[in-house]
Amino acid sequence: MATLSEQDAARAVLRWYAEMGVDEAVAPSPADYYSWTRAEPGAAPRIEAVRAQAAADAAAEYAAHEPSALSTDEAIKAAEAAAAACDTFEALDAAVKAFEGCPLKAGAKNTVFTDGVPGADLLVIGEAPGRDEDRLGKPFVGRAGQLLDRMLAAIGRSREDNVLISNVIFWRPPANRTPTALETAVCRPFVDRLIEITEPKAVLIAGGAPLQALLGITGIMRARGVWREVETMGGKRYPALPTYHPAFLLRQPAGKRLAWADLQSLDARLKDH
Ligand code: URA
Repeated sequence: MATLSEQDAARAVLRWYAEMGVDEAVAPSPADYYSWTRAEPGAAPRIEAVRAQAAADAAAEYAAHEPSALSTDEAIKAAEAAAAACDTFEALDAAVKAFEGCPLKAGAKNTVFTDGVPGADLLVIGEAPGRDEDRLGKPFVGRAGQLLDRMLAAIGRSREDNVLISNVIFWRPPANRTPTALETAVCRPFVDRLIEITEPKAVLIAGGAPLQALLGITGIMRARGVWREVETMGGKRYPALPTYHPAFLLRQPAGKRLAWADLQSLDARLKDH
């Protein structure tokens, strides 16, 4: 009798999962969480427990990876040199994807750099890729990204036509934890070079993490809606407007009124200059 190779067997299992309606890997091994909730009526949905365990496993796996061979200072210097050597968007895009100095890369599926129109007069900068972004290799494609798209559409903007979107971190942090100062510092030279090369008329800073990374300010509640300037490592200054992160607005829809005021201020400024 013919036996299946390991690869054929793995493919057969995957096909069977797909036929059974599995569309997402939540944990490394299957779990019948329906039976748990049946056994414990009224118990909190155990899918959360499975997800939490999977996140802990992912973090442990990430921690077990070989650390980057570079020290922190070396990694930042390498990023500065790689970014400074780029004169075009295409060269920068390739340099970010080839960069090995950020420890987050070891645990990520994809480098998530930009989406949209390089050279658009509006550059949106968020925090870091999440699960959907890591899977697809593009920033802001999950639920928060869909809200961002709707917010931008309200002022006549889209990533197809007239917006470029990026983040201050280009690799998904394990289990979506907050990026460390080191991870942010290592990505920063590329963010600065992106701004210098694409020369936006305005940078929309989406949320507290990019606010801190780009302007060194904490407290998005007070900082939002006030125009400031991002200063790049090359010493150039660009107008920047902090606003709420769309993920925050999904949790706190009451903030949309202020976010709308920020978008109108952004629109007016872009039309003015
Ligand atoms: N949140 C971000 O800040 N960036 C993304 O790309 C997705 C979600």
